[in-house]
Amino acid sequence: MEIRERLERICCNNIAACTNRQLYEGLLEIVKEMSKEREVSPKEEKATRKVYYISAEFLIGKLLSNNLINLGIYDEVQKLLAGYGKSLADVEEQEPEPSLGNGGLGRLAACFLDSMATLGMNGDGVGLNYHFGLFLQKFRNHLQQENKNPWIEEKNWLERTEVSYPVQFGGFSVRSRMYDLDVVGYENRTNKLHLFDIETVDESIVEDGIQFNKEDIKKNLTLFLYPDDSDDAGRRLRVYQQYFMVSNAAQLILQECQERGCTLYDLPKYAAVQINDTHPSLVIPELIRLLMERGIRMEKAIEIVSQTCAYTNHTILAEALEKWPMDYLNQVVPHLMPIIRELDTMVKEKYENPKVAIIDKANLVHMAHMDIHYGYSVNGVAYLHTEILKNNELNHFYKLYPEKFNNKTNGVTFRRWLMYCNHRLSGYLDEKIGTGWHKDAMELEKLLKYEKDETVLRELLDIKAENKKKLAEYLKATQGIELDVTSIFDIQIKRLHEYKRQQMNALYIIHKYLEIKAGNRPATPVTVIFGAKAAPAYVIAKDIIHLILCLQELVNNDPEVSPYLKVVMVENYNVTKAEKLIPACDVSEQISLASKEASGTGNMKFMLNGAVTLGTMDGANVEIAQLVGEDNIYILGESSDTVIAHYENATYVSKEYYEEDADIRRAVDFIVSDEMLRIGNQENLNRLYQELINKDWFMTLLDFKSYTEKKEEAFRAYEDRMGWAKKMLINTAKAGFFSSDRTIAEYSRDIWMK
Ligand SMILES: *Cc1c(COP(=O)(O)O)cnc(C)c1O
Repeated sequence: MEIRERLERICCNNIAACTNRQLYEGLLEIVKEMSKEREVSPKEEKATRKVYYISAEFLIGKLLSNNLINLGIYDEVQKLLAGYGKSLADVEEQEPEPSLGNGGLGRLAACFLDSMATLGMNGDGVGLNYHFGLFLQKFRNHLQQENKNPWIEEKNWLERTEVSYPVQFGGFSVRSRMYDLDVVGYENRTNKLHLFDIETVDESIVEDGIQFNKEDIKKNLTLFLYPDDSDDAGRRLRVYQQYFMVSNAAQLILQECQERGCTLYDLPKYAAVQINDTHPSLVIPELIRLLMERGIRMEKAIEIVSQTCAYTNHTILAEALEKWPMDYLNQVVPHLMPIIRELDTMVKEKYENPKVAIIDKANLVHMAHMDIHYGYSVNGVAYLHTEILKNNELNHFYKLYPEKFNNKTNGVTFRRWLMYCNHRLSGYLDEKIGTGWHKDAMELEKLLKYEKDETVLRELLDIKAENKKKLAEYLKATQGIELDVTSIFDIQIKRLHEYKRQQMNALYIIHKYLEIKAGNRPATPVTVIFGAKAAPAYVIAKDIIHLILCLQELVNNDPEVSPYLKVVMVENYNVTKAEKLIPACDVSEQISLASKEASGTGNMKFMLNGAVTLGTMDGANVEIAQLVGEDNIYILGESSDTVIAHYENATYVSKEYYEEDADIRRAVDFIVSDEMLRIGNQENLNRLYQELINKDWFMTLLDFKSYTEKKEEAFRAYEDRMGWAKKMLINTAKAGFFSSDRTIAEYSRDIWMK
């Protein structure tokens, strides 16, 4: 049946009279039906080995438009609605954004699911169905306020299934319920994202903000992603969540494999389990336990599981390499402890070095160590990151298992991050170089033949200008902020963390503000845009948000300065906002402390959409620089080698930079100036000021001078509009390498189908 007829049936034969809500719900049903038709039955599967991508986060974004594109009916639906005076964009506004992720790691998992389905692979995601997800961010009195983020409406994309498993904890057990989301590949098959939940969860136990009783596991287990871990109960709750996730995953995997004829002894032939960061690590002892329960002796079970599981490392920050106290594990998963102890004993018998032990002297269980010893692959997520893992952070392991280590540079799906979010650029590319790039992203290089073509360059500038105008309208409508669309849009959107160095950008704003006050005005005005959530218990990160919000107030209301400089902090940064911000960006801020950003994927989305990167030699920026060449990127700051040496030798002293550089001193002092204290809180601002001078663990002041110089250089280059347009073109043309289709093809070749 035609889409029109189906919609008419839902809308009582009158599409023009339908509300956007009705249209959304109608399209949701139609898309669900069409997705079902693309499911592949187990009999039709070509490969025997199925991929299970287990992740605590899936930052999937809204689904309607993405699914319409992947089903190949986006344009048809848009035209159909337009014929009745309706706008698909307005219908999209009806959909709440699923709140199942936090940042880059979760977004990566979502891109990977898209690419697996697009490449026709048999691969599903497994995670949890958080009712309130990550918190919803609001700004009050220049501070971040956290609220619950309910996103599951009566009509939604989740399908309740019949699948349900018992999950045993210390002292009690629960029963799970599996919900499925369709993952529609681009012009290809439909896979699934399996999200587990329990039916006793009680949303009403959440009081104001995001407070709730952390001890009542049956009621709180799937309420929030990453519950506050600043106390014991919060940390224990995270272990409950992790075990609940992987016990369900393990039971599902064994059931599906057995249904397909697996004897369990040949499990590695049927399943590849990808452990996305350390959160799903308990899947290793859980699979071993389940195999033993089914009659396989321990030694054999360990061998089978070790050939089934592979681990992806996402960070070298200590806080993310989880170490759980034995006490928690004894309490939450006592039945896993004999297995974890045995895994540890085997390691200790083989290797004397205490640095590779699973259980350390303080009785902490190192999850990553378990993954590395008992997984068959360990991968980093960008070239530099993997090198640092091999040569520094995980060097002890690399020496034991060089063959396990491999690199898989991250990628993003070009369907969402270009075809959908930048419809006009996508259409123009189709016109100039054909549509082959939709499936073979390297074909974007065909654009290079236009690098001197003024008509093409002008069109690229025109598209960018329109995207900036649209963003300005959106921010006006949502946050009441007035933007100068002729200004340079300089954008830094990512989770707030000291290593990502939003504070360095804030110091630049202070520097620029004072320069403009002194009469040094920029040739073209600048708009600095931020978007970032800080973890609720991360004090300094929240102070940095406070600083930026105070600067927004100060700068934008200063009549001398605001015609030349504006500051915008976008509230509740998420995928939907990213889709609006990225196509409108001129300068992409990627200024992490070298060695600390594993890869970044925001950097890839910006590049693809014709923004020019201003960044440090860190993560995938290194590969971006290699691809576009030094004329088309602005690289600043010290190298990862220098930074690592500073840490090893304790040679970085921020106070020296503060005392020796007048610009730095002026900017840092301004944080606690009378002007700022009139707007902000003494406590927050002073703490940040002290932190920068006396600690500055992430070396903000180290790169400040280089940063301001490079930023000014980029802004000067922007004045030559044709020269800048050529940089934009080269960035888009060279972005093909960063398609997650390429990344997934590599995972498949080197890890899953090896
Ligand atoms: C891509 C993306 C990220 C990751 O950004 P980085 O700059 O790589 O940290 C985080 N959040 C959202 C909503 C994204 O779309």
